[in-house]
Amino acid sequence: MAKTIQAIRGMNDCAPTESPLWQWVEDKVRNVLQSYGYSEVRMPIVESTPLFARAIGEVTDVVSKEMYTFWDNDEQLTLRPEGTAGCVRAAIEHGWIYNNEQRLWYMGPMFRHERPQKGRYRQFHQAGVEVFGIANPEIDAELILLTARLWKELGIDQHVSLQLNSIGSLEARKNYRSALVEFLQQHIDLLSDEEKERLEKNPLRILDSKNQALQEVLNGAPKLLDYLDEESRTHFAQLCTLLDEMGIAYEVNPKLVRGLDYYNKTVFEWVTSALGAQGTVCGGGRYDGLVEQLGGHATTGVGFAMGLERLVLLVQEVNQHIDLPRAVDIYVVHTGEGTTLPAFQLAEKLRTNLPHLRTMTHCSGGNFKKQFKRADKVGAKFALVIGESEAQNQQVVVKDLLGGEQQVLAQADVVDFLKTAF
Ligand code: ATP
Ligand code: MG
Repeated sequence: MAKTIQAIRGMNDCAPTESPLWQWVEDKVRNVLQSYGYSEVRMPIVESTPLFARAIGEVTDVVSKEMYTFWDNDEQLTLRPEGTAGCVRAAIEHGWIYNNEQRLWYMGPMFRHERPQKGRYRQFHQAGVEVFGIANPEIDAELILLTARLWKELGIDQHVSLQLNSIGSLEARKNYRSALVEFLQQHIDLLSDEEKERLEKNPLRILDSKNQALQEVLNGAPKLLDYLDEESRTHFAQLCTLLDEMGIAYEVNPKLVRGLDYYNKTVFEWVTSALGAQGTVCGGGRYDGLVEQLGGHATTGVGFAMGLERLVLLVQEVNQHIDLPRAVDIYVVHTGEGTTLPAFQLAEKLRTNLPHLRTMTHCSGGNFKKQFKRADKVGAKFALVIGESEAQNQQVVVKDLLGGEQQVLAQADVVDFLKTAF
């Protein structure tokens, strides 16, 4: 036999047995987003590399070491590592946000060259939201309400919690950065080589270091919230008040800064302790400077992205009450002279009249025993059986595969029977 070829490490297949749960999760996401009036956008999976370098920032983990980049003739292209940059690019390019508010969402694969482990893959899927042209903290609150509603729908709301922070304006962050660097210089011996490098390039990232000893020391570090500009402070206070009034619980986490450069003011993450190290299921924040940075007219932005693999894992872990649709409801069995055509006609009639049911017609021949085995294997609830005498008399045997009883019906009555049976 020829040598088989395997999938790329960290890039997963979705098996036929797994896709019903994925579809269930994706439907919930879609329905919640649409219930808030958001519109779907679809962007290419490949963009020009400088877009990500400019939007996300050269010194971030994503741009400095996680991107899949290749040359296409003399142009450098990258498989998108996230959706915000492409969405902003498209919004500017097509004038979606010129003098206009937009509430947009997207869903699809993203690519990052990371070390694969549970909840961390090289091809993974995000559902994301980007809202343009609304500066008011009311929209920040709406995004959080929307995600909270989704967690309820997914049955995971008892297992996620909200971390919230404001990282203020660029100016405020500059001031804070100096204070933080000065503080960290006094504890330089606790920093790893990588963190020493970050101290120069991106010191705020050190705040979410996994190093326990350093974390203890960081509890005494200057707090970004104390360095906020007046406008960001008011914005954050208004957001917190609205969340309080709407009954959304959160924890203000002064060390939450998020990995990407483009954020300002609000940042948030929904985290869980049920998935081990990969505990962040959703992260987002405000990026008021990004549109201008990418060449558009100054337009505020705020958004988030959630990792669908982590959500699916969490649903599997904590929600045992999902009623997933069966892949096949009705299996049409037929054998003998002149039975194929009536079987096909009957199945088509069911699909026309009962489009919510899933009807499969047996196509690989064989005796009834073999065909019933298939019907059981695909998990059908009813088998519709057409033998030679049923074909001649325009009848069909309806067999309840779960209960075992069977009855003979006129083919003309099958639709009505199945209407009441499901
Ligand atoms: P992490 O800290 O886990 O690396 P991140 O800050 O890099 O996450 P974001 O860029 O904010 O993640 O992406 C939003 C969400 O996408 C994350 O909260 C997570 O749920 C998901 N995500 C990010 N990277 C991966 C990955 N490699 N595999 C699976 N899901 C991912
Ligand atoms: Mg990451």
